[in-house]
Amino acid sequence: TIEFHLAERPVGWPTADTFRRVERTLPPLAEGEVRVANRFVSVDPYMRGRMNLGESYVAPFELNEALTGGAVGHVVESNAPELPVGTAVSHDFGWRSVAQGPAASFRRAAEIPGVPLSTSLGILGMTGLTAFVGLRDIASIKPGDVVFISGAAGAVGTAAGQIARLMGASRVIGSAGTAAKVALLTERYGFDAAFNYTDDAPVAEQLAAAAPEGIDVYFDNVGGEHLEAAIGAFRRGGRAALCGAIAEYNTTEPAVGPRNMSRIITQSITLRGFTLGDHVAAAPAFAQAMGEWFAAGEIVYDETVVAGIENTPQAFIDLLRGANIGKMVVRVDA
Ligand code: NDP
Repeated sequence: TIEFHLAERPVGWPTADTFRRVERTLPPLAEGEVRVANRFVSVDPYMRGRMNLGESYVAPFELNEALTGGAVGHVVESNAPELPVGTAVSHDFGWRSVAQGPAASFRRAAEIPGVPLSTSLGILGMTGLTAFVGLRDIASIKPGDVVFISGAAGAVGTAAGQIARLMGASRVIGSAGTAAKVALLTERYGFDAAFNYTDDAPVAEQLAAAAPEGIDVYFDNVGGEHLEAAIGAFRRGGRAALCGAIAEYNTTEPAVGPRNMSRIITQSITLRGFTLGDHVAAAPAFAQAMGEWFAAGEIVYDETVVAGIENTPQAFIDLLRGANIGKMVVRVDA
């Protein structure tokens, strides 16, 4: 197997030196184990947090060990009757071309004709579920709500925009970092308005123009200036699902907090953070709803597919810089 280890803990932005490529011969399978040829490996922003030491909701990655994370592939050798050769499985062994372990560490992945297996890492998997949980369970979205989503052209964001509309939002607004992404939001993803946060005008100003009557729900993938702008735009009883703060993941100084916190009091605003691990019980409801929307042609999705397991570190770095539209995945085969 070819795998990538954490060679050093990055300070600020990760670089090629953060990772080490290792080639390893796997031992023969033990009883009850399977060997899986990975087809797609996921790179996700949360992995940046795991490269740091310190308290978080998942343990830090170990130095000089393969990075873990979502991946999907096919069983190529099996000592476990419940997962015969050829079964499609997803798992959390991450950044490697071949994964091996007890059958219980692998979950069967649905193979839908005409739909790539990589969707089980994105729109039909972790990032789709994150969007669903954030809107339904954390922000308690209601029909008629005006919804603002940052990081809107990414994996979670594109899912959240569509799910918000399907759950009855009256207006959905998104922000993203390039003009092409902004155009895609309104033209392909059904957002009613979108803006580029890298334009000269402050986020608060652009949000006010897109939502002149204010917002009810904010799905936060970014933190920082975006969060302050959303607090400023909330109508009474506004609710934010704090999902990510990617604007802060590679900074070396502590972030400045929103300067308008008193509005949270005067407008009865709720800001609520969440991590998906506490909400896995929502997975069946998500699978049911998303399955129906998907089958009815209500959902579109994009994947930015980087070819070749060798390019996994660069794909991760590019993800943090915004090179992706929709879910960023690595196809193991070049
Ligand atoms: P994305 O597909 O959204 O990829 C990351 C995107 O972040 C980039 O494409 C880039 O787009 C944007 N970005 C990078 N830097 C900045 C910045 N300084 N300001 C604003 N946007 C920036 O990743 P995911 O959909 O997988 O994740 C989205 C967010 O959700 C992340 O914050 C992630 O940590 C979080 N998350 C949280 C989970 C939870 O359980 N709470 C689970 C899964 C994800 P652009 O070109 O627009 O800048």
